[in-house]
Amino acid sequence: MILYGKQDISNADIDAVVDVLQSDFLTQGPKVPAFEKAISDYCGASFAVAVNSATSALHIACLALNVGANDWVWTSPITFVASANCALYCGANIDFVDVEPTSGNMCPKALAAKLAWAAENACLPKVIIPVHLCGHSCDMKAISALAKQYDVKVIEDASHGIGGSFDGNKLGCCQYSDITVFSFHPVKIITSAEGGVATTNDSQLAQSMAMLRSHGITKTPQQMLRPNEGDWYYEQHQLGFNYRMTELQAALGLSQMTRLDEFISRRNQLAQHYATQLSGLAVNIVEPLSNSVSARHLQMIRLQTPSKRKAIFAALRNAEIQVHVHYFPVHLQPYYLNLGFAVGDYPQAERFYEQILTLPLHTQLTEQQVELVSLALAEHIV
Ligand SMILES: *Cc1c(COP(=O)(O)O)cnc(C)c1O
Repeated sequence: MILYGKQDISNADIDAVVDVLQSDFLTQGPKVPAFEKAISDYCGASFAVAVNSATSALHIACLALNVGANDWVWTSPITFVASANCALYCGANIDFVDVEPTSGNMCPKALAAKLAWAAENACLPKVIIPVHLCGHSCDMKAISALAKQYDVKVIEDASHGIGGSFDGNKLGCCQYSDITVFSFHPVKIITSAEGGVATTNDSQLAQSMAMLRSHGITKTPQQMLRPNEGDWYYEQHQLGFNYRMTELQAALGLSQMTRLDEFISRRNQLAQHYATQLSGLAVNIVEPLSNSVSARHLQMIRLQTPSKRKAIFAALRNAEIQVHVHYFPVHLQPYYLNLGFAVGDYPQAERFYEQILTLPLHTQLTEQQVELVSLALAEHIV
């Protein structure tokens, strides 16, 4: 089977994990801070807070921005459910902003219209969560300008995007957002098995997220609210969680960071090869903005004959090619239909969903395999 995504584990990665197993700390040791520093340095953000998943990162990012009951959070319907669930974890209300028809990313025009409507109806969101689908950056300049105009906070869900850039700056630098979240699930760009991180330039947000990931507890003397009782003393200030990343995960992630640029250039090479191989077929490739470099998490195409998708999907799977579809619109999930969402709420997202197909793309894919996939597609698209 040619997998749609796959981790790339080197001997150095394995050695890094074994070293931790033989060290004094399996958790709460030096590797997590080292991984956080590598990420914040790479992205050009002041702070990084590592956690056990991007889902956890989205949750504590919302909490740090004071998302709670009666608040609204808006995200994209074309995403993994975690981008929306995080608002519900906080007891807030979720709503969606429709997507651009060609990129599947949050549409700045739809956002502008929805914000104007919400301002009139006194239901502006506290936070919006644009998602960089495929690792292709949203138009963050436009989104951030609108967020500033309406005093709305921004969390970038860059789960697909580490290593990519927008307008000359790395995703995660938070130039256009309050917090950016990355995922290190094995299908993503780099992996820590499970894991995620939140970057920010705001020390208060970083401190709050660092506490929330570990029970709402602090051991930092300067943060104490009571007199320090001694070296054993810690204080709980908030109701937090155990969302900590282990040392094993951090060591793997840290080792993977050394190959991040290599991964991005390989993924872009393969995407380029797909562009050549697919030219002339009845498909539109989902491409990044011209002022950005995509991390190329997903190689997504839009079929010009959506009615044939089911058959094409089945034929390629039958040919041992693990094509995929990212994503079934979140608002149409049974859980979300129960919340009151309905078919037709976000027509562009629903149309986009009907057309899309994800082709295999990962660092160990070969040019030959790209050609094989493209040929199989060509054979079944007619
Ligand atoms: C993978 C993913 C997540 C969740 O990441 P985990 O690390 O698995 O929790 C969230 N949002 C998007 C867009 C994702 O692709």
